[in-house]
Amino acid sequence: MLIDTHCHLDFAVFKDLSALLADSRSAGVEHFIVPSTTARSWAGIVDLAKQHSEISVALGLHPYFLDKFEHEHLKQLETALSSHKVVAVGEIGLDKWPRMPDYDLQYEVLLAQLNMAQSHHLPVILHARKSEDDLLKVLRQTRFSQGGIVHAFNGSLEQAKRFIELGFVLGIGGTVTYPRAQKARKVLQALADEDFVLETDSPDMPVSGYQGQVNTPLRVVDIVRVVAELRQQSVADIARFTSANLQRVLPNWNKV
Ligand SMILES: [Zn+2]
Repeated sequence: MLIDTHCHLDFAVFKDLSALLADSRSAGVEHFIVPSTTARSWAGIVDLAKQHSEISVALGLHPYFLDKFEHEHLKQLETALSSHKVVAVGEIGLDKWPRMPDYDLQYEVLLAQLNMAQSHHLPVILHARKSEDDLLKVLRQTRFSQGGIVHAFNGSLEQAKRFIELGFVLGIGGTVTYPRAQKARKVLQALADEDFVLETDSPDMPVSGYQGQVNTPLRVVDIVRVVAELRQQSVADIARFTSANLQRVLPNWNKV
């Protein structure tokens, strides 16, 4: 069984979700973790999990979408985490790309959500863009001990090791399918079997050969093929240990 540990299946671009889930299942991709973006997205995401038993969800406030942020949303998140079955708080994090929402605000919202995840004993799904060192620092300062997934990891091997020490695994997706992604490929080759899970970040992050198309969880099949080649392991072995890794870091992922 393959699992897409990060796909935004609530986005409007996925018009016929039942057909997509059926196609994915036939291709061997059988479970899906859907993280959220804004407070407004939570109700729809919770509904997705109610309609499809193969979908698990995370609730949180994504740094990229903070232009719609109101302080009330943090209180609403606290309530939502107590009333819905979620596998993690996410996606949350820091984005240092140009023209992103105010970094101090990103930091403040991240801090509040890490403390919330800690008190609910929930892992987190982290979004990191040019911000890996800042994230490592805040995880240490808050003594965050619930672990989780650093989604679409694109940092150095040194940073990877520090996240792993803190109880995280790394989300490996479309980036490694590009031969020019030398750094990401080298990091992947140096990781232990225990250190990563697979993801597509659908509908974003197109896999090599599918540029210009909407990315879907079906592409986990292409990603795992490249991972197998790069690490000289079998697809079956990677499917087995990445599922075990997910079970370890997000222990509620398959509890209906
Ligand atoms: Zn995402």
